Amino acid sequence: MIVPFTYQALPMRVVFGAGSVAKLPDEVAALGLHRVLVVCSPEQEGTGRQVAAALGDTAAGVLAEARMHVPVEVAHRARDVARESGADGVVAVGGGSAVGLGKAIALEHGLPVIAVPTTYAGSEMTPVWGLTEGGQKRTGRDVRVLPRSVVYDAELTLTLPGQLSATSGMNAIAHAVEGLYAPDATPIISLMAEEGTRALAAALPRVVADGSDLEGRGEAQYGAWLCGAVLAATTMSLHHKLCHTLGGTLDLPHAPTHTVVLPHALAYNQPAAPAAVAALSRALGGVDDPARELWELAGRLGAPRSLAELGMAEADIPRIAELAVASPYANPRPVTREGVEALLRAAWAGVPPGGGTP
Ligand code: NAD
Repeated sequence: MIVPFTYQALPMRVVFGAGSVAKLPDEVAALGLHRVLVVCSPEQEGTGRQVAAALGDTAAGVLAEARMHVPVEVAHRARDVARESGADGVVAVGGGSAVGLGKAIALEHGLPVIAVPTTYAGSEMTPVWGLTEGGQKRTGRDVRVLPRSVVYDAELTLTLPGQLSATSGMNAIAHAVEGLYAPDATPIISLMAEEGTRALAAALPRVVADGSDLEGRGEAQYGAWLCGAVLAATTMSLHHKLCHTLGGTLDLPHAPTHTVVLPHALAYNQPAAPAAVAALSRALGGVDDPARELWELAGRLGAPRSLAELGMAEADIPRIAELAVASPYANPRPVTREGVEALLRAAWAGVPPGGGTP
C-alpha cells in the first residue's frame, strides 16, 4: 500500500563522471558567472589550485581556509575575501567543511555556489547550513545555500584515505537509513535511499581495499549523491540527533561518530520501522538484521566501532543521553532516557547492536 505523502522536489543539477571537473568552466558559464572564488580546506589546497587552473581566467583566487563546522570567524573572512576579489560566485571543493564554507558565503551575500565534492558526506545536495560561534553550532535551512550545480568527479576522491572513505561512506548511509523511516518519507526518496545504501555497501570494501579503484570510487560517489539527496528531502531522527549532540558537546569527529552510532540507532528503531528494515535488507544483500550487518560492515572496513576509541569518557554517557532526550523530535520508536542510555553504553563499548553477541 502506498502511504499518502507530499513531495516537493528541490532544484538539482548534477554533472557526474570521472574527469568531469573539465566541464566546470561550462557550469560557471551556464550560471552566467565571470569570477568565482575557489574555497577548500588547507589540506586540499593542491586540489583547489588544480580546480582553479581548470577554470582559467574565471578563477578569482583560492581560499584554503575551510574548517570543520564552519567557525564564524572563517566564514566572515571568506565573505570579505569574496567581496574584495569581486567574486560573483563560489566553487567549493572538498568535503562537508569546504561546502559548508561556500554555503556560509551564499547565506550572507547570496552568491551562487558550485560544489565539487571530494568526500561522501552529502552536504552538496542539501539546503542545510551550519555556523559555529562560541562553541555553539547553529544550523538552518535556506534554499539560497543549495549548490546550483554539483560536479562529481571520482578522480578527485582517489586521494581520500581509506579510513576517511569508510567513515564518510557510513555517514552517507546514515542519511539513507534515517530517510527511510522519516516522518516525511516519500516513495521516490525511499528508492534513492535503498539504491544509495546498496551502492555504498558494495563500493566501500573495494575502495578501502584499493584506493585507486576508480570504478569503485565512482560507485561510492553515486551512492553518496543519492544519500545526500535523501538528507535534503527528509527530517532526520534519533541517529542524527545523537551524533549532533556528541559532536557539539564532546567535539567527537563527525564521520567516525556517525559510523559508530549508526548500527545502534538503527537497532533501536528497527522494531518500529518494518518498511525501512525491508528496504535495507534488500540493499544489504538479503540480510535479516540490517543493523547488525552495518556493524559487521564497519568491522570489515576497519572503521571505528566504539565511542571509547573516539575518545569519549564513559562518565559522559548520562549527560549525552539527557541532552538527546531534552527536546522532542520525530522518531519511529518513542525515545526514552533509559533506551538512549543503553544504546550509548553499547556504542561506547563497541559491542554488537541490539544485544547481539560478537
Ligand atoms: P571534511 O570536509 O571536514 O574533510 C575531512 C578531511 O578530509 C579534511 O582534512 C579534508 O581536507 C580531507 N579531504 C577531503 N576530501 C579529500 C580527498 N579527496 N583527499 C584527501 N583528503 C581529503 O569532512 P566531511 O566528513 O566531508 O564533512 C564534515 C562536515 O560537513 C561537518 O562539519 C558536518 O557537520 C558537515 N556536513 C553538513 C551537511 C549538510 O547538509 N549541511 C551534511 C553532511 C556533513
